[in-house]
Amino acid sequence: MRRRLVISTLVTALCGGTLAGTAVPAGAAPAAVDCRRVKCVALTFDDGPVADSRRLLGILKERNVKATFYLVGKNVQRYPTTARDAHRAGHQIGNHSWDHADLTRLTSAQVRSQLSRADTAIKQATGVKPSTLRAPYGAHNATVRQAADRPLVHWSVDTLDWRYRDSARIVKTVKEQTKPGDIVLLHDIHRTTVNAVPGIITALKARGFHFVTVDQLFAPTRLPAEKVTYHNRAAYRP
Ligand SMILES: [Zn+2]
Repeated sequence: MRRRLVISTLVTALCGGTLAGTAVPAGAAPAAVDCRRVKCVALTFDDGPVADSRRLLGILKERNVKATFYLVGKNVQRYPTTARDAHRAGHQIGNHSWDHADLTRLTSAQVRSQLSRADTAIKQATGVKPSTLRAPYGAHNATVRQAADRPLVHWSVDTLDWRYRDSARIVKTVKEQTKPGDIVLLHDIHRTTVNAVPGIITALKARGFHFVTVDQLFAPTRLPAEKVTYHNRAAYRP
């Protein structure tokens, strides 16, 4: 849920992904994808898990697509097996706060509490502590970045799926706006978004994209916990 529209002007340069001829064979393990050489995109799903997240996991499995889930701790507590299964399926799990608070309105101690409670719930469910944070609403300030102690990963393609609830529109936005190295913002708490996923996958596969997790998008570099945010692969300069 992004109740507040964060307008960000992003400079999204091509990141060498135009070398479509070097694409790895379909069905290859995602780890083998080198996003410095092929067209990559990271689909990200925020605010879950919810009951419908299982349907999304089924779609992603069927199409052999890996994604990243920015989970709300409170929801992980409610659907721990869904979080576990997402992790086991090879998707990346990120921290999206305990209860989707606007972190910029909190003290440093409160921000740390939001993140550590979500970390604990996710670690209990999946066995892994999330290495990246996506701030709810994309809202962050110096206090949040300091308290996060990990990279903040936001997005370069905003589908506005939470506002329009229109599957065809979501597919069209992703199809038209996605460039190599982009991070696409989606919310699996909306059925219209999950319904759009097969169309998104078909459209981007037809354009030669490989679907990777956030970590894979930036590989071989591991994102340092600098007090900056990342919106796409092009934004990272080693
Ligand atoms: Zn959110």
